[in-house]
Amino acid sequence: MAFHLNKSTEAFNEAKQYIPGGVNSPVRSFRGVGGTPPFIARAAGSRLYDIDSNQYIDYVGSWGPMILGHAHPAVVEALVQAVSNGTSYGAPTLLETTLAKLVQQAVPSMELIRMVNSGTEATMSVLRLARAYTNRSKIVKFIGCYHGHHDSLLVKAGSGAATLGVPDSPGVSDAVAGGTISVNYNDISALTEVFSQYGEEIAAVIIEPVAGNMGMVLPQEGYLAAVRDITQRYGSLLIFDEVMTGFRVAYSGAQSVFGIKPDLTCLGKIIGGGLPVGAYGGRQDIMEFISPAGPVYQAGTLSGNPLAMTAGITTLTLLSQTPGLYEKLAEKTKTLCAGIRAQGEKYGFTLQYHQLGAMFGMFFTDQPVYDYESAKQSDIGAFNTFFHEMLKQGVYMAPSQFEAGFMSAAHSEEDIAATIAASGYAFAKVA
Ligand code: PLP
Repeated sequence: MAFHLNKSTEAFNEAKQYIPGGVNSPVRSFRGVGGTPPFIARAAGSRLYDIDSNQYIDYVGSWGPMILGHAHPAVVEALVQAVSNGTSYGAPTLLETTLAKLVQQAVPSMELIRMVNSGTEATMSVLRLARAYTNRSKIVKFIGCYHGHHDSLLVKAGSGAATLGVPDSPGVSDAVAGGTISVNYNDISALTEVFSQYGEEIAAVIIEPVAGNMGMVLPQEGYLAAVRDITQRYGSLLIFDEVMTGFRVAYSGAQSVFGIKPDLTCLGKIIGGGLPVGAYGGRQDIMEFISPAGPVYQAGTLSGNPLAMTAGITTLTLLSQTPGLYEKLAEKTKTLCAGIRAQGEKYGFTLQYHQLGAMFGMFFTDQPVYDYESAKQSDIGAFNTFFHEMLKQGVYMAPSQFEAGFMSAAHSEEDIAATIAASGYAFAKVA
């Protein structure tokens, strides 16, 4: 049957009567690309199934968590068992230690780890900790990086904030925004200048070691080492926001790929196996400032939730115990990007393709992309057409030029071949 979104259109209209914009997170509305978002009925493996009976090969993976694919049987089984033991206790469990241990073994710079409920909570809490530990007030972030939607970091932000044209959200007070200094990504001289002016006041630099929220942008050779060096020289803390890259670009995250040891790390997405989780952790002497070990208050009714811990433990265990899983993910992602590139070239498109492990991005520009300004030079109209043509052919990409794509272990070679073929048709429409 021909592709249509009749039921989704109806559902979207109804949702708008009860939920602002019809969605609970802005990019889901397709505001950037236009049109109606498919309403999803269920998901399995590499596929999403919508309420109009369309199915899609999914490269969003719930924005990153679903690295094993949707409804992985082992995760489902563990959750079914766990749910019968009760869904929340608000008291310590063995599960929390098990997940913290798995994270610590994978990311040894995280000597102590605190579980929270989202990436936003992780980055929000880690900034309070950094300010308290250093007794300094300023934070440095990078233009186009996104770290969640709390006030200090909703300044020159990427992701949906960039897509919807509100990188500096109304409602963030000048007093809070004034404590955040924004610098161009991949520009070490700009960072050096900021440090020479404010160095003694800077509590921390927070960075996506591989940016995924201005589209995917890789750090240039030596850049992260230079950021590490300058923070160390001024006694500021370096925070890696690996909410997206953790267990994604490699099992041990971007810090293992680039050989940089941050003071603190934020995680989320994959460590929750598709349930709401975030975490932050790092040097023991810093983390011991967190309550109740220390004076910095941070708490959560549902933090360390047994279902979320169970999904996370099962996911990380499978990821660490499946031989060659990350190599295979990287290989498939590379094949996908090379295939789409070849199709594009047939129709005269020279795009920018970025990839690391199971994360990828493509920009509709023939110029190099290394920061938010260069990302913004992309042809958004061409991207939007491409996006909708892919959707019609059953390929679900992120509905914005300023997002990354994610491969899962469930994507088959046939899925990838079908995606490459679909991209040929889509490029033909863009041309
Ligand atoms: N940090 C990064 C790098 C992210 O990509 C995101 C979300 O996409 C967040 C933080 C916020 O995480 P959450 O949406 O779970 O609050």
